[in-house]
Amino acid sequence: MKYCPKCGRELTTRPEGGRDRLACPACPYVYFGDFSIGVGGVVIRDGRALLIRRGQEPRRGWWQIPGGYVEHDEEFDRAVVREVFEEAGVHTRVVDVLGLRNSVGAPSTNVYVVFRLEPLSGEPTCDGDEITGAGYFSLDALETMEKVQSLSKWAIRAALVDRPGFRHVAEADLIRPGYVLYGLDGAG
Ligand SMILES: [Zn+2]
Repeated sequence: MKYCPKCGRELTTRPEGGRDRLACPACPYVYFGDFSIGVGGVVIRDGRALLIRRGQEPRRGWWQIPGGYVEHDEEFDRAVVREVFEEAGVHTRVVDVLGLRNSVGAPSTNVYVVFRLEPLSGEPTCDGDEITGAGYFSLDALETMEKVQSLSKWAIRAALVDRPGFRHVAEADLIRPGYVLYGLDGAG
């Protein structure tokens, strides 16, 4: 990055928050790096998990749970429901959060949130381009399939354990517009 995305001035390097960073000499903009948030949804129906097959690189031909990137103006629990429908044609609702993965480095530092979802309606379907397969698979079937993403296998096993994850917290005094909170049940 060479120019300020806010005002267009050439960025310079200066100490900000404990280290040297690219920053704008004309406005308050400081470049803190590229971050993204991803979501994945484990949808279980009759003991089987919903998987999609990637039609594009990276990992073209691999099976994984459906998911994608969260838009900057979208709550992450809405994003996972949207992505599961876009990729696999299944309407769902969120049950809880099963896990978090943080990956640091290229192409951007990412937090990936794994949700457990309940299917509401719709049979698995896909566009045949971005996604080239969609269906429900048992754990036994998964073990015989090649090219299944390891994180998806972990997430499916986690979802099949009958134990609650982080639940949506709706206490009014904790929530401001745009806030979404998931945490342990009963924490108050
Ligand atoms: Zn600027």
